[in-house]
Amino acid sequence: MKNVVILGAGYAGLTTLKGLKKAAKAGEVKVTLVNKNSYHYDTVNLHEVSAGNIPSRDICIDIKDVVTPGVSFVQDEVIKIDTEKKLVLTKKHEIDYDVLVIGLGFQPETFGIEGMAENAMPIADVLAAEKIAATLEDNFRKYATSEEKDVKDISVIVGGTGLAGMEFLGELVHRKKELCSKYGIDEKLVKIYGLDAAPTLLPMFTKEYSDYARKYLEDNGIEIILGAGIKGATADSFIIEVEGERKELKASTLVWTAGVRGNKLMDETFPELSKRGRLVTTQQLTVPGMEDIYIVGDCAAFIETGQERPYPTTAQIANQMGAYVGARISGKPVGDFKYINRGVVCSLGHKDGIADVMGGKKSKGFKAAKLKKIIEAKAIYELTDVITALKNQRIL
Ligand code: FAD
Repeated sequence: MKNVVILGAGYAGLTTLKGLKKAAKAGEVKVTLVNKNSYHYDTVNLHEVSAGNIPSRDICIDIKDVVTPGVSFVQDEVIKIDTEKKLVLTKKHEIDYDVLVIGLGFQPETFGIEGMAENAMPIADVLAAEKIAATLEDNFRKYATSEEKDVKDISVIVGGTGLAGMEFLGELVHRKKELCSKYGIDEKLVKIYGLDAAPTLLPMFTKEYSDYARKYLEDNGIEIILGAGIKGATADSFIIEVEGERKELKASTLVWTAGVRGNKLMDETFPELSKRGRLVTTQQLTVPGMEDIYIVGDCAAFIETGQERPYPTTAQIANQMGAYVGARISGKPVGDFKYINRGVVCSLGHKDGIADVMGGKKSKGFKAAKLKKIIEAKAIYELTDVITALKNQRIL
C-alpha cells in the first residue's frame, strides 16, 4: 500500500487530502497529514481577525472533523525533510513516506528593510492576526485613558496595498468606527495610512475599479500613498521616500503586508532548486528529478508550458493544485496540471468590494462583497463539505 504523507493543512494540503479520502477508506493508500496546529485556518480571512472584526474561531476548522477512515493526523511542527532517506522529521516524530506532498504555505518576507521584521506585525497566521487586533485595541485604549494624548496611538500604518493590505484597510473602516465609539474618540483624529512602492493600485483590476477601491478608503479617512519607497521601520514609525523626499510617518500600530515568500524549509530541503521558499515544479507539480515529491500551494512556483513567469500564489491556485495532486496520486488519468484563473475579488469590509470574475463579470459594492463570501464558501467546500463551508463563511 502506498504510504502518502501530506505536510500542511492549508488549502493545498486539505484539498490533496480530500482527493485521497476515497482511496484511503478503500485501503488503497495510507495517508498521514502533518500540521503544526490542531486546526486549519482560512488565510484569506486573516485580515478580518487582524482588524478585530471577527474572532479567530470563525475562520478555523478542527482537523479532527476532516480526518476520515484510513487517514491519520500528526499534530507537530516539521523541522526537516530528508529526501535521501524518505523521512520527515517533526519535533517529536520521524515519519517515513513513499510519496510526499509539501503544502507548508507562506511566511512573511521583509526584503531586509531595516527594522521591519522587528517592529511591524505581519498578517501571517492566526496568532499573528490576534496580536494585531489586540495591539490596535490596546493603543486606542491607551489614547483614551492617557492624560497626555498622543495621536500616534490612534494611528495605523499598513505597509503594502496589495490584496491583503487593501482588504485589511477595508476592515479597518468598520473597526475604527467601533473603537472610536467604544473609547469616546473623535473619528476625525484617527490616521490610517496604506503605503506602497508601486505606482498603481491593484493593477489586476481595471483603473475604474481600483479608483473605486481607493475612493472608498479615502472617503472613509484612509490615506493611500503610492510610489512610497519603504526604507525602514522603528518602534513607532515607518520611514518612507516619496519623490526623492524622506519622511517619517508616526503610528503605534504598524502592519506589514507587502511581502510573502514560501516556507523556509523549502530552501533547506532543496538548496539548489528553491528560491525564497518556492520551487519551480514540473508540469505535474513534482520536484524536478524527484517524482515522489509534490509541491503544492505557496511553496510551488508553477510555470505553465509556453509561459515565462509563475502564476501568483493564491488560495485559488493552491486548491486547484491540491485537487490535481490528490487525483494523480489516487491513480486518476489527469495529464499535466492546468490552472484555471476564475478571477479576483477584493473585499472592502463586509459590505463593499470590487470583483472581476471569470467570464468578464465585474461588480462593485455590496454585490462584490457577497460574491467574495460565496467564493470563499466554495473554496472551503473544496476542502471539506457543504455544511462546514456555509457555516465557515457565516452564510448559515
Ligand atoms: P497556507 O494556507 O499558508 O497553509 C499552510 C499550512 O501549513 C498552515 O496550516 C500552517 O500552519 C502549516 N505549516 C507551516 N509550516 C509548518 C511546519 N513547519 N510544520 C507543520 N505545519 C506547518 N488568496 C486568494 O486566492 N484570494 C484571496 O482573497 C486572498 N486573500 C488573502 C488575504 C490575506 C490577508 C492573506 C495573508 C493571503 C491571501 N491570499 C488570498 C493568499 C492565500 O491565502 C494563500 O495563497 C494560501 O493560503 C496558500 O495556501 P497554502 O495551502 O499553500 O498555505
